[in-house]
Amino acid sequence: MPLVLKNFDKQSVISISDVKHYVEQLPTKHIKSLTHIVYDPTRFFQRSYSNPSVVNQNVLGEYNQLPQNFVTIYKFNNRKEFLHLLYHEIGHHVFNKILSVHERREWVLCARKSRHHVSEYAKTNTQEDFCESYAFFMHSKHILARDSYKINFMRQVFR
Ligand SMILES: [Zn+2]
Repeated sequence: MPLVLKNFDKQSVISISDVKHYVEQLPTKHIKSLTHIVYDPTRFFQRSYSNPSVVNQNVLGEYNQLPQNFVTIYKFNNRKEFLHLLYHEIGHHVFNKILSVHERREWVLCARKSRHHVSEYAKTNTQEDFCESYAFFMHSKHILARDSYKINFMRQVFR
């Protein structure tokens, strides 16, 4: 199924062809079963599918496996924030759908060995740590490279 990029014409920070370009920087296998990347400033998706009762304005993007493998981007102020959100949320897809059970276990061990986190948010749990590391691998590799365990793990994920 081809990946659908939706509603990016409703903002002017980033062009649709740039979104396409940034997605194409990823290994094909990482986005194989991803169906949509949607820009959703009204949080329609969040209200209708993921959490009907509570709309959390602090959440800037989401990855959902139901009803399909969706990445939803709610809010960004500039290209840098967009890139981070995009790759972070795709990181959730890779963690949940692309990594094997063995690889996920390896990541947990790797994250335990390491004391370095690329961001405060990465300390939330091992999955968020993966997604933050994944995003930094794509846009700020030199920062992830301070951690030899994590950069080596990501190099394997991207092989
Ligand atoms: Zn996350």
